[in-house]
Amino acid sequence: MSKTKRIAIYGKGGIGKSTIVSNIAAAYSEDHKVLVIGCDPKADTTRTLVGKRIPTILDIVRKKKGASSEDVLFGGYSGVRCVESGGPEPGVGCAGRGVIVAINLLEELGIFSDDLDVIIYDVLGDVVCGGFAVPLREDFADEVYIVTSGEYMALYAANNICKGIKKLKSRFGGFICNCRGIENEVDIVGRFAERVGSRIVGIIPRSQLVQKSEIEAKTVLEKFPDSEQAELYRKLADSIYQNREFVIPQPLDADEFEEFFHEYFNN
Ligand code: ADP
Ligand code: MG
Repeated sequence: MSKTKRIAIYGKGGIGKSTIVSNIAAAYSEDHKVLVIGCDPKADTTRTLVGKRIPTILDIVRKKKGASSEDVLFGGYSGVRCVESGGPEPGVGCAGRGVIVAINLLEELGIFSDDLDVIIYDVLGDVVCGGFAVPLREDFADEVYIVTSGEYMALYAANNICKGIKKLKSRFGGFICNCRGIENEVDIVGRFAERVGSRIVGIIPRSQLVQKSEIEAKTVLEKFPDSEQAELYRKLADSIYQNREFVIPQPLDADEFEEFFHEYFNN
């Protein structure tokens, strides 16, 4: 039996993680059994795969004792299995805690021991709190990728996530550049990647097709399968699948981080 490939995708809120996760999941589903685990309180990772929002594990366990696999697992596009951890009610509780509850339940229900080829975690990384670090920590994901643009705040979050990865000694596979369309964006991200001892594994341009698909709650692969954008998500999925280069990143300290931008824009 082939070993399951377990991937965690991190990045700042709103940077494009869920779009990437759902599209690469759709790409893998063409010849693999795939499970997607949304670990963001927004709980919208799997919306474009299932065609609507699904109930979250936290919501389900709040309402029902002894939830079963059928309660938490939803079938999506081309057989992708989908789960959302969910989050606490606004103003109470810790968001990362939802991830812990969700992963424990999935384990209890034996969902991980299934015949899966690929498991993808979509994790919010603005704050690498204990809960959000679970996919890095407890032997749930084998490799981690960070989605970033060339923007200051996106790279700031990326650098923080690198600190978490270093601390937990996870295997870092590299950066996915989800372009915002700023000048020299790929170059900025490439240089940042180099500074922390890593590289870019894929580049996704900005495209209107993302919004057009999202409005219909579909992935780009489903809505525009023959588009160039769909091809780029397939290519990214492939680079991640084939990747054998992992590092422990060397994040920048606060001064080095500021200097990186000063140097970049003054040269
Ligand atoms: P995250 O999961 O990191 O919070 P999302 O994947 O939900 O981010 O993306 C945030 C917004 O950015 C969405 O409305 C999405 O449509 C848009 N978006 C993401 N990637 C692209 C892209 N490559 N081109 C255009 N819009 C994008
Ligand atoms: Mg998301």
